[in-house]
Amino acid sequence: MREKMPYEEDQLKILFTPEQIEEKISELGKIISDHYAGRELIMIGVLRGSTYFLIDLTRKMHIPFAIDFISISHYSEQADSTGVVRITKDLDLNITGKDVLIVEGIVDTGLSLGYLLRNLKTRNPASLKVCTLLNVEARRIVDVPVEYKGFDIANIFVVGYGLDYNERYRNLQFIAEFNRPK
Ligand code: 5GP
Ligand code: MG
Repeated sequence: MREKMPYEEDQLKILFTPEQIEEKISELGKIISDHYAGRELIMIGVLRGSTYFLIDLTRKMHIPFAIDFISISHYSEQADSTGVVRITKDLDLNITGKDVLIVEGIVDTGLSLGYLLRNLKTRNPASLKVCTLLNVEARRIVDVPVEYKGFDIANIFVVGYGLDYNERYRNLQFIAEFNRPK
């Protein structure tokens, strides 16, 4: 039986258990390792929602790679933003000529990822692909190619396993639907 967190209210409805998440990440780790064997892979975590996923994913991999992080912010934090984004923390590594895999926690409208892909492409990586744990196809505004994905989910708001609501809930070991207060 899972331990109850003190802040676990009835606003949370579990979608994926820690066991389901681990199993999925093991599969992804193996597939990605096979695809990038013998290449010069740089895994880029998009801060901050992807951090738990990125770390656990890399622990399931059996090839060499580098890790870096990038952070982007949305000018508008409204539910349906205009999609205006900018980089608030850039990469430390030079990705030119390298095989780059962007690791996201969730791809929703695709606006953030669309921007990231355009930006990173100008640095001429050998290849540029995307891995996301959660994918919300129904919300897509920008058509972004997602090579590796964990789970497809409906148009709901989720927290846990790195994903937050006002910076809370990231450390939940499961992923849950969250009913945001009105
Ligand atoms: P997009 O640009 O694809 O609409 O949104 C990507 C970003 O929005 C994600 O990296 C994440 O930070 C945030 N986001 C989108 N949907 C959700 C959600 O259901 N829960 C949480 N916690 N964040 C989300
Ligand atoms: Mg984010």
